[in-house]
Amino acid sequence: PPLGDDPERTYRLGIMGGTFDPIHYGHLVTAEQAREALDLDLVLFMPAGSPAFKQDKHVSDPEDRYAMTVLATAANAAFYASRFEIDRPGVTYTVDTLGELRSRYPDNVELYFITGADAIMDILAWHDAERLASLATLIAATRPGYDIETAKARIAASGIDFDVRYIEIPALAISSSNIRELVRDGKSARYLTSESVMGYIQKNDLYVTGE
Ligand code: ATP
Ligand code: MG
Repeated sequence: PPLGDDPERTYRLGIMGGTFDPIHYGHLVTAEQAREALDLDLVLFMPAGSPAFKQDKHVSDPEDRYAMTVLATAANAAFYASRFEIDRPGVTYTVDTLGELRSRYPDNVELYFITGADAIMDILAWHDAERLASLATLIAATRPGYDIETAKARIAASGIDFDVRYIEIPALAISSSNIRELVRDGKSARYLTSESVMGYIQKNDLYVTGE
């Protein structure tokens, strides 16, 4: 991906992970606010191949989730949709992704993993949380319905040395689950995500059965 290669300067690479089933304005605003707050050079949007915490749930085809991610991020020069996780076989663990990125990029590239308040709340339960903490700075954005203070307290009590930057962002009470439910019920989900993503959902009959 288009990150510069000037050895004299530091690059800040953001990674926005998610299932993106579908991607929506909550994800896009979170990434854009994180990009600006931490002066990130680039944000990679990475749909998870086989999300660790959704093993017992139906998740749409990775190619559809990736295509929607491409559509939603296309107009932002600092956003890039990445196949990195969907091309890796097996259960997707963020720590593996960050480890691989760390070994591929030189030392002047810093990694920033972007999350919402619900994800940061659960981070201690993530696979190899301690190593994850050593690989990237975490950016935790506010999200309606989730209390960031609870997350802060848990992280402080964990004894693991996480570097977390908390950012306050415009509240968008949008979730992929809600969009799937609206589509399944034949209700409008327009303007919760981009027109291109809505069009893709309709054209490909996604979420109609509510699986
Ligand atoms: P689902 O309802 O299927 O779980 P979701 O809307 O929570 O979907 P995910 O793909 O699970 O979306 O989330 C990916 C990342 O985006 C997580 O870090 C999550 O906290 C963050 N995120 C999602 N929606 C928002 C939102 N509206 N505001 C802030 N952060 C968000
Ligand atoms: Mg979620």
